[in-house]
Amino acid sequence: MTDVVIIGGGPAGVSAATVLQRKGYKTCIIDSQVFPREKLCAGVLTVKSIRLLQYIYKDLNLENLNIKHINKIVLLNNRETIGKYTLANPYSVINRTEFDNALLQYYKNIGGLVFDGQKNYTIAYDKNLVKLSDGNEITYRFLIGADGINSKVRANRWQGWKASILCFEKFIPNTTNEDTIKINFGGMLGGYSWRIPGQDRIGIGLGEFYIKGMKRKPDKYRKYFNAQGVTDINGMKGAFVSFGNFVPNPVKQNILLAGDAAGLVDAMTGEGIYFAIESGRQAALAIIELLEKGTPLSTYTNRIKRIHKKIKEQSIYNKMLYVPILQLISLQHIKKNPEFGQSVLENAVSTYHTGYTKELQQNKRKKRQSSPI
Ligand SMILES: Cc1cc2nc3c(=O)[nH]c(=O)nc-3n(C[C@H](O)[C@H](O)[C@H](O)COP(=O)(O)OP(=O)(O)OC[C@H]3O[C@@H](n4cnc5c(N)ncnc54)[C@H](O)[C@@H]3O)c2cc1C
Repeated sequence: MTDVVIIGGGPAGVSAATVLQRKGYKTCIIDSQVFPREKLCAGVLTVKSIRLLQYIYKDLNLENLNIKHINKIVLLNNRETIGKYTLANPYSVINRTEFDNALLQYYKNIGGLVFDGQKNYTIAYDKNLVKLSDGNEITYRFLIGADGINSKVRANRWQGWKASILCFEKFIPNTTNEDTIKINFGGMLGGYSWRIPGQDRIGIGLGEFYIKGMKRKPDKYRKYFNAQGVTDINGMKGAFVSFGNFVPNPVKQNILLAGDAAGLVDAMTGEGIYFAIESGRQAALAIIELLEKGTPLSTYTNRIKRIHKKIKEQSIYNKMLYVPILQLISLQHIKKNPEFGQSVLENAVSTYHTGYTKELQQNKRKKRQSSPI
């Protein structure tokens, strides 16, 4: 019997599997795709993500991957520049195909078992059993659903959950060594567009509010991508991101959800790799604690309360940045207060040393102190 079967070998699944495997538990990852596989993602790792990766994946040298460290960020509202920043600690841009494969290889190197390319596997939840595409059967004690935004595990056990930001992204070669992240808040309903250079390619993308039944906007998107130098948008892939809508209680009996499957994405920026890794780690620790101390599995929800709290805070400020009238006020505030924008990008986004509320309070206090009356 396998102690823990993990569905999905992205950052959430492989982080859970690595923590468990290193503790001596029998684990395996089942993924529908064959690795190395593509994942639609701009590939930005913040400082906190790098620190967490170094903590879990000891000795993994990210510098061996095509990684680009970027400390220049420009915020825009259509053609108006809202702020230009040079960060003390850079953001790091990776290629997700390479990065996810490197994490999976790390897990394999410590003895982890991977069944990838599993298109037709089935899960008999009542029997704690997975039947692989070739007919082989795996019984498990615990199951972690880390199968991304369209999670089948979630759909089966937690109905009625929806993500609402639809993203499109295309890559072009980075022939001119572009080295600035550009985020544009103009023209997108409830989201933003980006131009993010990596070592050898530039990710150009957009994310906008979309729910089933809404009119699609292919002409608008074609225009945007053409203006960014993407001439051919045929075969362009889209993917959903959750902006603040997480699964409040992601544990049922012996099943846990982690990462995108649990809706754990920064509700201001769409950053999801950090929460994926951290929730995967916490899912593993909750299982270990149950096996070693008999603590109920439901403690997993408490373990990720910190993440839920962050997303709730971000959801409040999400409205300020993405609801049209409020957005204008917020962008003007950011424009007039460059040190506020800088501090948010460094502390509230990259390191989590502070949150948005603290940043705003500090900004108010500084203004009051510098006021002549
Ligand atoms: C356009 C775009 C840009 C983004 N940019 C960033 C960024 O710059 N920085 C950042 O931090 N986050 C970004 N995100 C979010 C980030 O990609 C996700 O939050 C992150 O990948 C979540 O990791 P995960 O392991 O939970 O899921 P995933 O990375 O999606 O991994 C899920 C795995 O499960 C597998 N799978 C799916 N369905 C099944 C199934 N039924 N059975 C078995 N296996 C299955 C998939 O093949 C995949 O390997 C972006 C997202 C999008 C859409």
